[in-house]
Amino acid sequence: MIDLKNKKILILGLGVSGYAAALFLLKKGFSVKVSEKAGEEDIGGRIKELGRYGQFEYETRGHTGEFCSKADVAVISPGVHTKELYDAGVLPVGMPAIGTLELGYMYCVSTVVAVTGTNGKSTVTELIGHMINASGRKAVVCGNIGNPLIGEVAGLSPRDIAVVEVSSFQLGTIDSFRPHIAVLLNITEDHYDRHRGYEDYRSEKFKIFANQNGDDWAVINASFKGDEEIGRIKSGIVYFGKGKHRAEVSQKEVSINDESGANCFSIKEKDLSLSGIHNMENVACAAIVGWILGISAEVLVSAAASFRPLKHRTEKVGVYEGICFIDDSKATNIDATRRAVESTDGKIILIAGGRDKGGDYRSLTSLIKEKVKAVIVIGEAQTLIKEAFGGVVPVICSANMADAVRVSAERASRGDIIMLSPMCSSFDMFSGYRERGDVFQREVKKQAGKDMSA
Ligand code: ADP
Repeated sequence: MIDLKNKKILILGLGVSGYAAALFLLKKGFSVKVSEKAGEEDIGGRIKELGRYGQFEYETRGHTGEFCSKADVAVISPGVHTKELYDAGVLPVGMPAIGTLELGYMYCVSTVVAVTGTNGKSTVTELIGHMINASGRKAVVCGNIGNPLIGEVAGLSPRDIAVVEVSSFQLGTIDSFRPHIAVLLNITEDHYDRHRGYEDYRSEKFKIFANQNGDDWAVINASFKGDEEIGRIKSGIVYFGKGKHRAEVSQKEVSINDESGANCFSIKEKDLSLSGIHNMENVACAAIVGWILGISAEVLVSAAASFRPLKHRTEKVGVYEGICFIDDSKATNIDATRRAVESTDGKIILIAGGRDKGGDYRSLTSLIKEKVKAVIVIGEAQTLIKEAFGGVVPVICSANMADAVRVSAERASRGDIIMLSPMCSSFDMFSGYRERGDVFQREVKKQAGKDMSA
């Protein structure tokens, strides 16, 4: 673990995480300096607020070698490309750099449960937190989900549990981060724009287990069984997935089993608000984590049943004239959309598109052919998606979300589903997936009328 005592600490990036890190360190009396890419007009408020807790130097509009090299340790925000900064000489060779996640971990006195994977992180992180809270212990759900661990540590006690959503970017900048329970949900194509390729993306995700030892637990998707990386894990491994595992997944139920394979308890799909086989995997994962933490079967079953799906994840907006509208704006990659389409009954009119992330849309061709009536495309990826599916179903380009909703509704009949599940990021047209989903929901309600049923 890096020793920060008497060190000058450079915070790189003053986004949500960098700000939380700077605030924490200033309050603790550390000597801090801040370097930020954006201009003062964007982050002036944060600079001013930090100033209330101590004096610090800062630079805006880019990271310069002159400013950044005069520090002992760098704390890197998730969006900052560490390697590029070393390559460009902004960070001197030999200056240690840690991520804000590592910093949070260094000061965390609670048990840490960490969740990573390509899809399902937020759902599983929230569900684990919900289960722990239902058991009477305090869980703080944090990390990549929007509130960084470093912003929460001051309020945590040794009896609490920090349930941390972790992205592969953040795992690239850990040093001593050692979750007591680490969950790897799945790894599919995503973020090709940022990682050098699938292999790098994959090995970064496995870093979640790197510092664990025999007292810890690894909860892993059974599809990784036999993988070379598994052999390096030192903690106790439990698998979840189809087949006989400690957490067994089927369409209808999740079964938690003991080491001998005997059933401890089951959670039935009919009792859940979550739907689809991917969510059964999510429930299996969360339940086995709860079981390892010593939560009773009774609490785990009832907490799974009372958990509500998160916003913008196959969220039902309403039904109008027999047409069901679903907002899956959080599906920012191809596999997330695959899961959403697979788990939807009925014919779908799919609204997709946005900023392309480099995946292969054609991998969905047979599924689209089977379940989708038409694809309405928006945003930068219009041409790519049209090329992929144009020969299979009608693909219609729309200029904006309002038009996409209108065109979808024109093509839908009673019993159909209109689903926004974009396969792309939203940054070409929106501030993020939340705004994209909100605009979709607003348009649906505006165009379909107020008399929708839930
Ligand atoms: P993340 O935080 O990893 O983005 P979310 O829980 O926010 O995950 O879900 C993102 C998208 O992925 C949603 O569209 C959801 O329907 C889909 N999804 C959720 N769980 C899984 C899973 N286990 N496998 C594949 N897709 C999933």
